[in-house]
Amino acid sequence: MSYYSDEFFKEYGLTDSDEYKDDFEYEDVYSDSSQNQDSGYEDVYSDSRRSRDNTRQNNRSGRSPYDRQGDYRDRRDRNTNRRTVRDYDRDRDRDDRRPSRPQNDSRRPQNRRRRRRSRLFRRTMIVLSFAAVLFVLIGVIALIVSSSSVGEVQKLAASDVSANQIVLSWEKAKNASGYKVLMSKGGADFEEIQTIGDPDTLTATIPDLEQASAYSFSVVALRDKKEGKPVLTESITTLPQTPEITNSFSAKPGVMHLDWSENPKANGYIVEYKKDGGEYTADMTLTVSDPAECKADIENLEVNATYAARVCAYVDADSQLKSAPSDEVSVKIVDKETEVMPKAKDQKVDGALDVNKPMIALTFDDGPAVDQDCGDRILDVLEKYNAKATFFMLGCNAGEEPDNLKRKVSLKMEIGNHTWNHTHYGGEVTAEDVRMGSNGIYDACGQFPTCFRSPGGMTTGTILTECAAENMAVYYWSIDTQDWSSRDADAVYHAVVDNVKDGDIVLMHEIYGSTADAVERMVPELIEKGYQLVTCHDLIALKGGSEPTPGVEYVDAFRQMGQE
Ligand SMILES: [Zn+2]
Repeated sequence: MSYYSDEFFKEYGLTDSDEYKDDFEYEDVYSDSSQNQDSGYEDVYSDSRRSRDNTRQNNRSGRSPYDRQGDYRDRRDRNTNRRTVRDYDRDRDRDDRRPSRPQNDSRRPQNRRRRRRSRLFRRTMIVLSFAAVLFVLIGVIALIVSSSSVGEVQKLAASDVSANQIVLSWEKAKNASGYKVLMSKGGADFEEIQTIGDPDTLTATIPDLEQASAYSFSVVALRDKKEGKPVLTESITTLPQTPEITNSFSAKPGVMHLDWSENPKANGYIVEYKKDGGEYTADMTLTVSDPAECKADIENLEVNATYAARVCAYVDADSQLKSAPSDEVSVKIVDKETEVMPKAKDQKVDGALDVNKPMIALTFDDGPAVDQDCGDRILDVLEKYNAKATFFMLGCNAGEEPDNLKRKVSLKMEIGNHTWNHTHYGGEVTAEDVRMGSNGIYDACGQFPTCFRSPGGMTTGTILTECAAENMAVYYWSIDTQDWSSRDADAVYHAVVDNVKDGDIVLMHEIYGSTADAVERMVPELIEKGYQLVTCHDLIALKGGSEPTPGVEYVDAFRQMGQE
């Protein structure tokens, strides 16, 4: 920066002021030196005059004013004992060792380069350190994000599929603290069905599914409230329900007959059979392609040999979409035509009953027991052993003990009619006696009786006709305990336990304490001996092989009244 203004140059007639300004820069520096300020100014003034003259000359001779500088310095040396340029140089060198004024320092090209270099260096360093900090920061953020984000489950698959259950399994997801299972049935929206709070539980059992139906599942890994990406299964179809073989026998030489329960979701059934001790093979199968036809005759079997068979239901016979096989049945093949005792076709009676095991029906007449506890004691023991029985009751007493009747209904006891008031016997019994009995029972418990027994057991055409009209079968008995006569619990007990056999209908009366005592003793023992205690209806339906017919009188499971 020059201390000389444009006015200065103007005063001295200088036109090209910039040129001169440059030329005077050295003097600027000198003039800054505080010790020599006064003389410095003088110098400047005199120098500038000389310089001006020289410049004019030089300009005229075409020489640059700088070329004259040496002369000008020499002249100054000679001229005075004032400070010369060299003095200033020396002082300046000395000053350079002290911290210099940056403003002036910058004027030196050497320093300017150095400064530029150092500025460049500083800037590079700032940029580099900023980049490093940024890099570390991004790394830290990435680490935090990755350590708190939840991954997705791996290898999600159905590990076990049955008719109404699917088991899913998967491999652990990164950072998971639990899992959520969602389900879609037949392409519907996914709904959350299970939440698992344990990250190490890597299976989920999905129960209560519908057979032969398509489902999709999604498993999402959880961490606190964060959710990972959901992972979906393929569509998984549950298997068809396994059929149950309800009947198996051989009645024709070389033929085994099977009946089984119907599966409306199936498209057919596959019957497999084998000779006892052998293996199931592909050539010993039989396909039934009508889902409503739940029976098969397996032919060309070896007579007097025993064969085993089992059935499965299929949706698609060629794929794996078929049910698990049924329980196996075993049948000896007859060598001549045989009459087969009919067996139950209707297993809806009571799924827990086994038609191949002995059954008996306990029956109790003359109830309900009014103002006595024997009726409820009998129900208590039947209930305790999950046994069933049939009660023939009077319409006139039913209204006295409605709670007892309702309890019988709720325990699924069979409700029978024993006329209105037990005053008429045999031919005296009118249709009105029967009807009034039914209505009295209905009024007490809200259910009409399903069967009838005449007082004293004597039936007539009138009774049977009325029973047919009222949709009631008539049940006589095959064992008479004479409990009304003996009133002896021990005698009643022995009358039953010593004589009973498969298919028997046992006559007792509800209104005697001695009978209740006998029942409390016999029921556990009969069950212990393998008897199933059932209603008359179930006894005849299962053991007799067909539903009891209204208006028909049965003596036991296998005989109607009048038959041998
Ligand atoms: Zn009676």
